[in-house]
Amino acid sequence: MPPAGMRPGGPGGRFMTEEEMAAAPKITPALLKRVFSYLKPYWKQLVLVLGCIALSSVAGLLPSIFTGKIVDEGLIGRNMRLLIIYIAASFGVTVLASLIGVFESYINNWIAQHITFDMRNMMYAHLQKMSQRFFTSNNQGDIITRMTSDIDGVESVITGTFRSILSNSITLVFALVAMFQRNWVLAVLGVIIIPLFAIPTRRAGKTRWTLTNEAQQCNDEVNGILNETLSVSGQLLVKLFNKEEEEYERYRSVNSRMIGLNIRERMAGRWFFMVLSTVTNIGPMLLYLVGGILIMRYDSSLTVGDITVLVALLGKTYMPVNSLLNIQVDWMRAMAMFSRIFDYYDMDIEIKEPEHPVTPKELTGAVEFRNVAFSYDGEKQILKDISFKLESGHSMAIVGPSGSGKSTIINLIPRLYDVCAGSVEFDGVDVRKMSLETLRKCVGVVSQETYLFNGTIRDNLKYANPAATESEMIEACKKANIYDFIENQELGLDTMVGNRGLKLSGGEKQRISIARVLLKDPKLLIFDEATSALDSISESRIQEAIDPIIKERTSILIAHRLSTILAADMIYVLKDGEIVESGQHKDLVRAKGVYAELYETQFKQSGIPEGGLSEYGMMPLPSDEY
Ligand code: ADP
Repeated sequence: MPPAGMRPGGPGGRFMTEEEMAAAPKITPALLKRVFSYLKPYWKQLVLVLGCIALSSVAGLLPSIFTGKIVDEGLIGRNMRLLIIYIAASFGVTVLASLIGVFESYINNWIAQHITFDMRNMMYAHLQKMSQRFFTSNNQGDIITRMTSDIDGVESVITGTFRSILSNSITLVFALVAMFQRNWVLAVLGVIIIPLFAIPTRRAGKTRWTLTNEAQQCNDEVNGILNETLSVSGQLLVKLFNKEEEEYERYRSVNSRMIGLNIRERMAGRWFFMVLSTVTNIGPMLLYLVGGILIMRYDSSLTVGDITVLVALLGKTYMPVNSLLNIQVDWMRAMAMFSRIFDYYDMDIEIKEPEHPVTPKELTGAVEFRNVAFSYDGEKQILKDISFKLESGHSMAIVGPSGSGKSTIINLIPRLYDVCAGSVEFDGVDVRKMSLETLRKCVGVVSQETYLFNGTIRDNLKYANPAATESEMIEACKKANIYDFIENQELGLDTMVGNRGLKLSGGEKQRISIARVLLKDPKLLIFDEATSALDSISESRIQEAIDPIIKERTSILIAHRLSTILAADMIYVLKDGEIVESGQHKDLVRAKGVYAELYETQFKQSGIPEGGLSEYGMMPLPSDEY
């Protein structure tokens, strides 16, 4: 096996893939300044780390220097005392270097952890401020990767790449200085030998990397063929079309290409080691030879010990040179990672807090849309010139075909998105002028897709109001028509809802979310009715819960069922982002427009509530008029 740092391939490979090269950031002074700005608060610890690295690098080189004394003064000088002293000193500094190393690694990890802690918190706080648009248009996996792997990567850059650059540079400089101090001729020779060793190492590494990549592609191809042809349906196709021979040939040819690549890759490894071991052995031999010539022919003051020291020091330069030659890739990767993180930091916060927030005189939940236009992408117009007014204490239903923009209207009220034209007013104040906290406190939404956190029912209810008392929670659950269900659970409010509420039925989840919104006690309640089929018992239980609630507060209902529509004071019919009709149920049915059509195709089946229409203060119409 090649030594760890020299192995090509894999994500931690020493070479960059074409993709990585294409995505490599431009390393500008501004980028570097920004990266180092994260280190700045920890400069004292960094100085300590630097000091430790320098000390341990020097201490790591001292045993090599002591070998000179061991040879000259101890062995050749036949001095037992000095021999033991130098051996003990060598041992001592080795232990000292290791101890300093441990301390340095502690400080280094401490800094890295603190920096990632800062970055992670900053990123999380920033992401919380990002608009809904950001979350809908970005892949959730990418966002999580940015939060986890990329920021974790920063830690390894600090404890790995940065540290490696520092310690290898310091070791190299000290080793070279010590070599030149002993004898410049041999030192120059050593410096000449270093590239002889380093260049083949790099070349061999690159060859192996290319071959490994090719073999990997070949392997993917083999797997592709196996997957295609050895599956049940694949085999059926092969058999029915008599393709056995052809498929066998295809498989054989890729397979034979693969063995060729594998052999070449293994052999590239062998050549590499041959070159490596030859050069590493040639280096000391050359030093002994030239050193011998200097001593014997030129009567140099050089001692045997000096040559031993130079040989030992030369050996100490191989690793740092190799690491530094390869560090460029790590460095580029690190910078690419920082740039990716900064890209996120730099993303504009779309929904901005107003500088001087205005709070309405009285918060009642009244909403007015004035000529609102909206588009998600700036191209496709989703809402066009929407105007309506919802008085405090009243309720309105929005109906319309799927995709007509009903949920979009709702999104504009708590400023999940901002209008493109026109304005949305909450109690007479443009929502963009209100503080987001006040606005969102006043708006409660029961959405179609009920989201419950993994935890108990109590945890989920308390999310809306952490200060809610037991009796308030029970009261809300009773109003939401879910209390009898909770009572029947062994653990009551402490029943776990499972991941995203998966342990509950759709209707139960929705009623818990109604209880949750009631605990929030919003001025405006928005209820986005589920379109997905709930059984009729669940539906009627939700309806029973919703009816009294909307009677007592300002509410907007996105309705799909007749009973919900009839519960509202006013109906707005939306089609292709425009309000095409508005009014009361019977007038809209009579108008024989979009509503009448929706009524015929959808609402009629959803049934008339018990007690008929008169319950809503309407006279039932003769059935043929619906
Ligand atoms: P409805 O609630 O009436 O079914 P929506 O308001 O959800 O309709 O959607 C209206 C239109 O806006 C649809 O064409 C939908 O594809 C589009 N749309 C909804 N949400 C987004 C989004 N986050 N980004 C881009 N387009 C969206």
